[in-house]
Amino acid sequence: MAGMFRLFPVLFLLVSCSNSADMHETRFIMGTLVEFTVADADPELAENAIRQAAEEMQRIDDMFTIYRERDNSVKRFNRSRLGTSVRLDDEVARILSLALAIQQESNGAFNPALGRLNRLWGFSNEPPPDHPPAEDAIAASIPPSGCIRKTEDGWQRSSARCELDFGAIAKGYAIDRGIAVLRRAGIQHAIINAGGDIRVIGSHHGKPWRIGLRHPRSAGDVLGTIEVKGDVSIVTSGDYERFYIDRGQRYHHILDPDSGHPAALSQSATVIAETATLADAWSTAIFVLGPPGLKLLERRQ
Ligand code: AMP
Ligand code: MG
Repeated sequence: MAGMFRLFPVLFLLVSCSNSADMHETRFIMGTLVEFTVADADPELAENAIRQAAEEMQRIDDMFTIYRERDNSVKRFNRSRLGTSVRLDDEVARILSLALAIQQESNGAFNPALGRLNRLWGFSNEPPPDHPPAEDAIAASIPPSGCIRKTEDGWQRSSARCELDFGAIAKGYAIDRGIAVLRRAGIQHAIINAGGDIRVIGSHHGKPWRIGLRHPRSAGDVLGTIEVKGDVSIVTSGDYERFYIDRGQRYHHILDPDSGHPAALSQSATVIAETATLADAWSTAIFVLGPPGLKLLERRQ
């Protein structure tokens, strides 16, 4: 768990890594375009590896999402009777344990039990909403703290307001799994870029991979680039990803678990960590905490 964390507030990422010797593939997974780039590999090997990695990421999405028709253990938990134990898939249980630890470490800013509140705000709905829900409905959807408990035979919830939503961590986990599959297939140099959330391995023909950082208010603008080599994950949470403006106010999908409203202290937060799972969870936490949250990361370095 210990590791490298650095924060680049108000930044967003674009990958700039074009080279004719690279293999590129783009797939639509987890509601976003996922771009695979592989360098210095046999084309057939790379193509097979990317296909397997994409399948693995789709498997993770199916296992964690609460926003599609298909059933999974997360949705079973969310409709379970209070005080009864539900068996979660092993991977879900592992990520939930990590998420609960990060909830504690972030003083509650990261909260994996916001499913009901997130559904009320409706940012994952099609079409997305154009005005905020009623205040009393918001207040009635905020989960009490500590409402999820591990038992001998599974997991329990103690409140109907308590519904799991892995939207702030599952994409990172899927990226990590995708990289693991690429590696297992013999790939040493690659990037997986899931809508700006990135993990890189190896190098770009011996040079660092170059990652562009996008301005949160100007989609076409790159604020700067960072160069990374080895095994590095870079994930951003931003208020421009899913939002609407109502009567001059911006409403977006990252919620402050205390107020039940969109977190107001950041436009964007980027975290670099040793896994995309950690970078994903912490970028959401830091987005909610705003600049004071940086202190939590300094302690973790
Ligand atoms: P991200 O883009 O990684 O910051 O994740 C945002 C998504 O995570 C939202 O669409 C919700 O599904 C969920 N979410 C919103 N607020 C929080 C929060 N404070 N803690 C954990 N998950 C959240
Ligand atoms: Mg996140």
